[in-house]
Amino acid sequence: MAERAVTMEKLVALCKTRGIIFPGSEIYGGMGNTWDYGPVGVEIKNNLKRAWWKRFVQESDNSFGVDAAILMNSRVWDASGHTTSFTDPKMDCKECKSRHRADNLIEAHSKGKVNPDAMTNEEMEAYIAEHRVCCPICGKFNWTNIRTFNLMFETSRGVTDENQNKIYLRPETAQGEFVNFLNVQRTTRAKVPFGIAQIGKAFRNEITPGNFIFRTIEFEQMEHQWFCKAGTDSEFYAEFKKKAWDFLVSLGFSEERLRFKDHDKLAHYAKEACDIQYLFPMGWSELNGIHNRTDYDLSRHQEFSGKSLAYVDPVSGERYIPYVIEYSIGADRLMLAALSEAYDEETLENGEIRNVMRFHPAIAAYKAAVLPLQKNLAPQARELSAKLAKRFPVSYDEAGSIGKRYRRQDEIGTPFCLTVDFQTVEDGTVTVRDRDTMAQIRLSADEAIAYIEEKIRFD
Ligand code: ATP
Repeated sequence: MAERAVTMEKLVALCKTRGIIFPGSEIYGGMGNTWDYGPVGVEIKNNLKRAWWKRFVQESDNSFGVDAAILMNSRVWDASGHTTSFTDPKMDCKECKSRHRADNLIEAHSKGKVNPDAMTNEEMEAYIAEHRVCCPICGKFNWTNIRTFNLMFETSRGVTDENQNKIYLRPETAQGEFVNFLNVQRTTRAKVPFGIAQIGKAFRNEITPGNFIFRTIEFEQMEHQWFCKAGTDSEFYAEFKKKAWDFLVSLGFSEERLRFKDHDKLAHYAKEACDIQYLFPMGWSELNGIHNRTDYDLSRHQEFSGKSLAYVDPVSGERYIPYVIEYSIGADRLMLAALSEAYDEETLENGEIRNVMRFHPAIAAYKAAVLPLQKNLAPQARELSAKLAKRFPVSYDEAGSIGKRYRRQDEIGTPFCLTVDFQTVEDGTVTVRDRDTMAQIRLSADEAIAYIEEKIRFD
């Protein structure tokens, strides 16, 4: 595999200087592991979400979207098991007081050869003691025992101090899809198998957030639950593995940097589970998960709510609780993967290095930039920009040399630059420069629109 130019430091710096992602609450000294999307970043992230929704809702003949509340009845989290078991194994270094996840310590120490997911807390403690796994911050060996730490953020609901109920910020979007299973089924008259999808914020009090937007305490998830009959579940599990993979490939991801990783330790309710990992700048890590969750979720909600969640087959009259195939991907993690995948440094003939983000045009924030060659061509350029903006997002730039303006657009991944020059005044044509090849062609405004619209499609 060819050596890549991308590093996390370069990505963070580029994102900041080009308005893609800024550190959260920066003027107050920041707020650890929170990030704000800037004018370019919000467009890219929206495009990723739109591409996902198109593929998994719009193009699916039996999937439906919801947008459920972030704050849910606390019983939801009792039913899902989050109040008791959404925990991580936490260890504190008694010397430098830093906090770590025992599973991460083992994974790093064994260079990924030992899989802590398959270990109990006692086994992890024994491994750390036996191998004298030291604190990665201060290098000392003086650990607390493992304590389990619930990752849900708590808040309270109530108008007086005495009358407060504990509620949670949802740690995943999936439960909003499960609790609406029958609402969606009845209102759409969908027949099993069918899917419910949602994009929304989730919150986790992660012990070790980091790696830029890879692991944050507030993030967006894109989740799709496929409800199917027991017996057909494994077939659909395989189908969603393929759909999840194909989605990434159609966004332009190289298959060399993607791989499946089966879970070694399955949750007690899961029949099959795997991740798709991506080769991020810091190494192979989970990008998305696909899980065969059996009938666990609906059965638990039926039990805890006391409401029947059985589906009645309209033909056979059979009543049953469907199985669920879950496909879940973080929008921010996908953003980090897309940024890493797109980043390139190209050495030009004159020896200069060109930074270019080679996004799929459907993902790029702006589909075209309109650049007047000289300032006195601004009226014509503004007119062209307004015409294009009716069709797709456009950037307009008249500051600096044309070369510098091309570089700025390359750095945010704008696939086409349209330059308005003196010939434009005469015959209405513009040069259309391709981001990847830097080749230029001359087209009329209408031809340029048709040309760009064809290239920015996500199919
Ligand atoms: P991890 O093992 O990385 O903690 P997970 O297995 O807990 O992830 P899921 O609960 O399956 O993750 O969540 C589904 C997806 O949501 C993940 O594949 C990832 O893309 C995203 N995700 C999960 N936690 C975070 C986080 N803290 N920050 C950003 N994205 C996240």
